[in-house]
Amino acid sequence: MTRIFEYGELFLKAIIIKKPFEISVEDISMPEIGQGELLIKVKAVGICASEVHAFQGTHPFRIPPIVSGHEFSGEVVKVGDSVSNFMVGDRVTVFPIITCGSCEYCLSGKNNLCDERKVLGTAQWPGPFGEYVKAPHTVVYKIPDDITFDEGALIEPLAVGLHTFRRANIEQGQAIAIFGSGAIGLSTLIIAKYFGAKVLVIEPVEFKANLAKRLGADIIINPLTHEIKKILSETFPKGVDAAVDCAGAKSSLLNAIEVVKKGGRVIVTALFKEKVEIDPLTVMLREINILGSQMYTSEEFKQAISLSCKVRDRLRQLITYKMNFEQAKEAFKLMLGNKAVRVILYP
Ligand SMILES: [Zn+2]
Ligand SMILES: [Zn+2]
Repeated sequence: MTRIFEYGELFLKAIIIKKPFEISVEDISMPEIGQGELLIKVKAVGICASEVHAFQGTHPFRIPPIVSGHEFSGEVVKVGDSVSNFMVGDRVTVFPIITCGSCEYCLSGKNNLCDERKVLGTAQWPGPFGEYVKAPHTVVYKIPDDITFDEGALIEPLAVGLHTFRRANIEQGQAIAIFGSGAIGLSTLIIAKYFGAKVLVIEPVEFKANLAKRLGADIIINPLTHEIKKILSETFPKGVDAAVDCAGAKSSLLNAIEVVKKGGRVIVTALFKEKVEIDPLTVMLREINILGSQMYTSEEFKQAISLSCKVRDRLRQLITYKMNFEQAKEAFKLMLGNKAVRVILYP
């Protein structure tokens, strides 16, 4: 709800990460939209691990004070001049990267790596932790009619899973090990199962492991109680084709390098807070490919929108809690305490 204050200014409600470990819900002024832009009313927004990092003050570019958020769906409420492909009332989501369109990365279809990129939910471009978001129409996409706003807010993590899976370069019937079943690990699992891969999930937190099972994981390993290598030697004696690190721990990365077969791929998707010492000799002798995975391209984001219709029943299960903006502190606590995969917030 917007409120008109006595001085006639229009404000919007926003969750502000003021500094590490300090959050407040405040009224801030409404963004003005210009030519080619849209104003979107936020309907549902997820809290991503990257916002948790921002809250902890450990994110490389989401630096407080900020109105963060980047996984959301909403409704167009205002259309700027010279925009002809959107109308008020359109249900949309946003590719959360504004790219230059002319650097070598943009020109070669890797606009996730754009030299001049601006990411939603940073100081440069306030995100959907505010009630309204402004965005150039070129990064706004309509969501399918049968996708709910809640599901629409999960298209972004699904796109991360899709890009991760692409980096893993897995073919039907091949095996992929996923370390960590937070939203990104689980999105990668949903995509991997959709494309017919065999999936192992390594996850110590019980409710997340159970969710991975429900979402179709073939094998689940609790690394605290079972030896990963032993289970793998019984199931995939040569190792898996690819291993994805969505956990961001020293042990997960070292294990990922160990469990892939010769010539296999290790994908780093998690945001690591610490440096990890690896054994270059193993990497050399076994020809292991260690690859990074950073967000997704606009092309993959579009594919994630169409895929969301096909996997919506699974996708929806990533939501652990639904809360209001006013409960933001509690919501961050749940995420920090490993009690939720996704918390969806409503303004
Ligand atoms: Zn995210
Ligand atoms: Zn660029």
